[in-house]
Amino acid sequence: MKAVQYRTVGAAPEVVDIPEPVPGPGQILLKVSAAGVCHSDIAVMSWPAEGFPYELPLTLGHEGVGTVAALGDGSHGFAVGDSVAVYGPWGCGTCVNCADGRENYCLRAADLGINPPGLGSPGAMAEYMIVDDARHLTPIGDLDPVKTVSLTDAGLTPYHAIKRSLPKLVPGATAVVIGTGGLGHVAVQLLRAMTAVRVIALDVSEEKLALARSVGAHDTVISDENAAAKVRELTGGIGAQVVLDFVGAPPTVKTAGASASVDSDVTIVGIGGGTLPVGFGVLPFSTSVSAPYWGTRRELAEVIELAHAGAVDVHVETYSIDEAPLAYERLHDGKINGRAVILP
Ligand code: NAD
Ligand code: ZN
Ligand code: ZN
Repeated sequence: MKAVQYRTVGAAPEVVDIPEPVPGPGQILLKVSAAGVCHSDIAVMSWPAEGFPYELPLTLGHEGVGTVAALGDGSHGFAVGDSVAVYGPWGCGTCVNCADGRENYCLRAADLGINPPGLGSPGAMAEYMIVDDARHLTPIGDLDPVKTVSLTDAGLTPYHAIKRSLPKLVPGATAVVIGTGGLGHVAVQLLRAMTAVRVIALDVSEEKLALARSVGAHDTVISDENAAAKVRELTGGIGAQVVLDFVGAPPTVKTAGASASVDSDVTIVGIGGGTLPVGFGVLPFSTSVSAPYWGTRRELAEVIELAHAGAVDVHVETYSIDEAPLAYERLHDGKINGRAVILP
């Protein structure tokens, strides 16, 4: 079968022919319908050889949707042909966090060498993929796989970030979304669907800001050194009660802190290497800064429910599996508006 693999540190991903996998006991084989292209893959492919955490070659793709093709011995809960989304942040299944479905915060995954598909385990950018356990699948029914696949990360990650801040997202409050790419343009929609807050979107690209407006942002601001002052102006000097940074680079975390109101949440989702110092008087009083990771199993089910309700619509550009390297190149160059999706 064809697969998109990262094979050599520093080189571009390659489309290769590899044997079709066979599901072991408890595992499930999916025929992949669609796989999403995430900026985190580009970060992974920029890491140096020394200390690189995953074995190569690595089949990419941590956003996957497919149909059940075969069940390994003892695997149950799904039937051949079922249309399912893959929950990516695999955990051990038995620690206290996993018991809660919070496998994204598994206490033992690192020790046990458990890695998400596409981020250590073979991923979704292939004709077939192995899912290690039925609990890592969420049925999607008649949802369009192409429109649904990115909800497993570009939907789930912002959903998790927003849900933990819901007590602050009351009517009259403001949320700032920095970086309205794959994750950010879904975050805008989730904020509109889940709350009555005012949404201010920041990006460096006018095209991305146009997308942000079309999916529900009330205001858009070019992300430069004046952006935080504009947010303050738009909020009558108060600032935003919740700031979600989907870039996480040094200039954006600075903007995030400077855009925050007293008693706010500043949530850094992007992995751009920025840090935000906290100390008395450094940020507005009682501001919480956090850097969450992906989302919980239950939250994926909730995001899929939002899709069934028609409350979220991922803006998708599709590519064949042979065009996957091109999709990564375009994402690297900031040329994808919304999310790129590979059709194996
Ligand atoms: P993307 O490339 O689709 O979107 C990034 C957006 O940020 C683009 O629209 C780009 O124009 C914009 N941008 C770049 N520099 C900017 C700046 N200085 N100010 C404002 N906007 C700027 O990327 P994505 O796939 O949506 O991922 C976003 C980030 O989230 C990445 O860093 C990714 O690695 C990270 N991520 C984190 C998690 C997590 O669990 N914490 C999960 C998924 C992705
Ligand atoms: Zn991702
Ligand atoms: Zn666990």
